[in-house]
Amino acid sequence: MEIRKGIPVSPGLAIAPAIVLDSEQFRIPRRSIDAKEVQAELGRFRQAVERARSEIHELKERVARDVGEELGAIFDVQDALMTDNRLHEEVRELVEREHYAAEYAVSTVLKAYARKFLKLPNRYMAERVADVYDIEKRLLRHLIGAKRETLGRLTEPVIIIAHDLTPSQTASLDRSKILAFATDGGGRTSHTTIVARAMSIPAVVGLQTITADVSGGDMVVVDGNRGLVIINPDEETISRFHETEQRFRRMEESLGNLKDLPAVTQDGHEVALWGNIEFPHEVEACLARGASGIGLYRTEFLYLDREEDPTEEDHYQAYAEAIKALDGRPITIRTCDLGADKFTHLSGDYDERNPFLGFRSIRFSLQHIGLFKTQLRAVLRASVLGPTRIMFPLVTNLKELRQAKMILADVREDLEEEGVPFDRDLAIGIMVEVPSAALMARNFARECDFFSIGTNDLVQYTLAVDRSNERVAGLYTAGHPAVLRLIREVVQAACDAGIQVAVCGEMAGEPMYTVLLVGLGVHALSVSPATLLEVKKVIRSVTMDEAQKVADKILSFDSDREVDAYLSELTRRLLPEMVV
Ligand code: PEP
Ligand code: MG
Repeated sequence: MEIRKGIPVSPGLAIAPAIVLDSEQFRIPRRSIDAKEVQAELGRFRQAVERARSEIHELKERVARDVGEELGAIFDVQDALMTDNRLHEEVRELVEREHYAAEYAVSTVLKAYARKFLKLPNRYMAERVADVYDIEKRLLRHLIGAKRETLGRLTEPVIIIAHDLTPSQTASLDRSKILAFATDGGGRTSHTTIVARAMSIPAVVGLQTITADVSGGDMVVVDGNRGLVIINPDEETISRFHETEQRFRRMEESLGNLKDLPAVTQDGHEVALWGNIEFPHEVEACLARGASGIGLYRTEFLYLDREEDPTEEDHYQAYAEAIKALDGRPITIRTCDLGADKFTHLSGDYDERNPFLGFRSIRFSLQHIGLFKTQLRAVLRASVLGPTRIMFPLVTNLKELRQAKMILADVREDLEEEGVPFDRDLAIGIMVEVPSAALMARNFARECDFFSIGTNDLVQYTLAVDRSNERVAGLYTAGHPAVLRLIREVVQAACDAGIQVAVCGEMAGEPMYTVLLVGLGVHALSVSPATLLEVKKVIRSVTMDEAQKVADKILSFDSDREVDAYLSELTRRLLPEMVV
């Protein structure tokens, strides 16, 4: 049994056999062979090695010719590894003794090599692990080739182990078969994580070496509450797992009683508690957990995994579905936030060195006016079906807001001329998710109807920490005093101007920060349905006066450690049953 610690990003527990996806997202099946097939299987292995070696020789020659002899020599390491007697011995043993299929034996042996390399203190040697993965990929390509299996044909419940998953891959996972996932990469607010939480798939990310630690078919426990992955658990751990799972379920049930109660403080101060969605069908899950509206609809998911842009009708159908499902409750539709880690076929044209600082979000929309107008038309048309607001992401200066509003005015005019009805009072807001917008909140407040603070990006841009990079995940925290001061500034600017301010980043869904945000005066919290009821419980357990005192105290701290320690202690007191 082995235990790995990563970043807990989506709550819940699961136990199941693992499927390990190789870097090209194909699974390596745990297949056994008959005793009489052993020789043929070893022949397949030798043939795969020969083919992979000749590929490497070709590559070596090409690189030596085009770039220089020295760089060509890089491939000697791979060639030496592939002809290594020990590798051949170990694969042969697994095929002969365990009757593993060649691909499974290769994957098992090379994973063990990768683990050893990763443990080496010598950095140069540790980095050779990339060569090991490369060899694995090459051999598997020859061994499984066209027969490679994808996730489409799952028949049994499994846990996915992958280097990383893209947001659209995560969104297409079959919830009934995929019980949890664990990845080498990723961070607390990466979009893959957000999608996992929306789909209630327990997940642990940032494990760094989990694809090397686990082999396909290993029994794995994923504990999305504590960020643990347990490989091949012993009997005692399995029974403890079942106890914890039951406790988690009982806690969920008791929170279920709060579903229809309002999110009010003990002295009657109401906070709007909304859900975040990526797809219209998620409205149902938000309502089931007691959301009183949708505060963030990430519409760019309509673009992912498509060869062509969605049409105005595709947009309209999606918005209409969400608005109708809300049955009179409000929705805030965010215009497309494409770019950075969310690519479409359009992004293929741009290869950026710093995509999070690049051509994304409103910048992308303002340069693709046709595409932007198509979306705005659909939002306006759908706005007659229920209370709808529109929101622009990643606004960094007033000019962008003014341009976006001008384009919206054009679209309104067109609809007017065509006699198409829309809500004339449609509120227009911005996401405040970069320091420049936060610092200029008073100026922005004069030109829009509401703010929604996107803490996921605000943290990343304030602290200069990539939100999806597991190596700097320790530096990524919403509790940093600089972030908190920016939030306070934005809330005060909104309150002084008399406009509404919400928080829709993941911070809003972390019960630890609820009292602070309420105390700062935030009007609405928009959260993933996974933690909505916990947040409601916290709101209902304090008075506004207490919350304000907490906020004052927190803002006097000068380190995120102090902030987090104080808030953890407070949350433990308010919600003793929630510490799993
Ligand atoms: C945010 O940045 O906090 C946010 C809600 O937007 P996204 O996570 O989609 O970037
Ligand atoms: Mg954002």
